[in-house]
Amino acid sequence: MGPTSSSRRRTLTAGALAATAALVAAGVQVSTASAVPGRDTAIAKARANVARNAELFGFGAGQDLLVKDVLIDPDGTQHVRFDRTYQGLPVIGGDLVVHQDARGRLKDSTRAKGHSPAVRSTVPSVPAQATAAKALAAAPGISSATSQPRLVVWAADGTARLAWQTTVSGLGKQGQPSGRVVVTDAVTGAEIEQFDSEHEASGTGRSEYTGTVTIDTTLQSNGLYALIDPTRGTITKDARNVSASSLNAGSGTLYTDADNIWGDGRKFSTDRATAAVDAHANTAWTYDYYKNTFGRNGIKNDGKGATVFVHVGTKWDNAQWSDACFCMMTGDGDGTTDPEQVDLDTMGHEMTHGVTSATANLRYSGESGGLNESTSDIFGTMVEWYANNGIDTPDYLFSDQSTPPWLRRFDKPSLDGRSADCWSRKVGQLDVHNSSGVGNHWFFLASEGSGSRTINGITYNSPTCNGSTVTGIGNQKVAKIWYRALTVYMTSTTDYKGARTASLNAAKDLYGSGSAEYNAVAAAWSAVSVA
Ligand SMILES: [Zn+2]
Repeated sequence: MGPTSSSRRRTLTAGALAATAALVAAGVQVSTASAVPGRDTAIAKARANVARNAELFGFGAGQDLLVKDVLIDPDGTQHVRFDRTYQGLPVIGGDLVVHQDARGRLKDSTRAKGHSPAVRSTVPSVPAQATAAKALAAAPGISSATSQPRLVVWAADGTARLAWQTTVSGLGKQGQPSGRVVVTDAVTGAEIEQFDSEHEASGTGRSEYTGTVTIDTTLQSNGLYALIDPTRGTITKDARNVSASSLNAGSGTLYTDADNIWGDGRKFSTDRATAAVDAHANTAWTYDYYKNTFGRNGIKNDGKGATVFVHVGTKWDNAQWSDACFCMMTGDGDGTTDPEQVDLDTMGHEMTHGVTSATANLRYSGESGGLNESTSDIFGTMVEWYANNGIDTPDYLFSDQSTPPWLRRFDKPSLDGRSADCWSRKVGQLDVHNSSGVGNHWFFLASEGSGSRTINGITYNSPTCNGSTVTGIGNQKVAKIWYRALTVYMTSTTDYKGARTASLNAAKDLYGSGSAEYNAVAAAWSAVSVA
């Protein structure tokens, strides 16, 4: 992750306190080089204190100490934390903290249970291969799993023994990276313990578009937090400016971070994690909108999460969904007026392409293509209404944050100079992002009604194509009707006339034939010349 990440890595010691056990398990070396005054002296004094009090610390032949952290109180009191090795093997449960005064004289100590870790032999009688197979069998919840055994001295219960500590890595229920650690006695083969190698975490994101947000992350076995959403399965990666056409789900670099605080809240940021914060958070909002509004579990309704790429291409002022890689791709904007394409309605739009693809699968050309685009604009906008963020106030402007003042609008789509307000025989010949205007205009009329009005500070004026006056039923009801139409009644070749029929069928199912809702849907279609 470039210069930002390396500067984060240098603060690993302080940030990884909560993850110390996991850090040791993965054999990560923490640099002891430091510019903190008195740190090196404190470490040297602490080593001497342990050697001088070998019996107290259970510090015998074959052992070594690895510095993990140093804290110096305002009054100079020093707390030096060590991990322990025996014959070069990590001692699990052999960690200790030396407390000493400002001059380095031993005051006290805190020791984990495994304080005397000598074992009879460091040669296992159970081979690594057999251990690996056994660990795989012991972690049945993980699919596509591989396992990696390593030899340790396990002393967490106070009795040191030679053990295999095997990390099983694969995919969890939501398709997210998942792992389990299985520890077995390397002499008898008996299982000692097992636990998840990853932990759900709650990170702080300084987003580009919506201020400081909470994001769901995962604490990995290497002690670093990753932009893996353990609830929704979403993985957010840096595409490293690879173009959209060259990306697949395995491309790019997973975002990781030592302190679980991400981004700097700026547009066009040099901190590559900033756009990732918005992408990760906004994909979660979209996932939750579909789940809490329609009971849909993810794009394919199978509970699995997608991969999200940020920093795709160079000055790529776009975003897209790819079925082939089951991923969303977002560019950095044009670099001057348009920042990174990761705002909420944009992310909702792209993820909705996945939903459409998994359901009606509207062909991406002609009128069905316009309906496909309109569906993404509608639900992308509805996610914004669902999130109801104070900074990104809900509106009927699409991509207003990343393509200011807006890319498309619902009340009168033709205001962009390209989109259609009304159906005509030729509408299917337009680009799908412009033939979508008919559907978007219908959505506005059915939700809010025709004429002029101000909503959340923005003034809209929606005309009708047939001179009628339409009264809206609210966007939540219209979205509900549209979702049912999309998932139950539309097919790959549905055109605008078919969409009218599909949405009226949906309105009939939900509210009854001849209900106010049914009539509003019909009137709005007529008002955009779809009879
Ligand atoms: Zn689109």
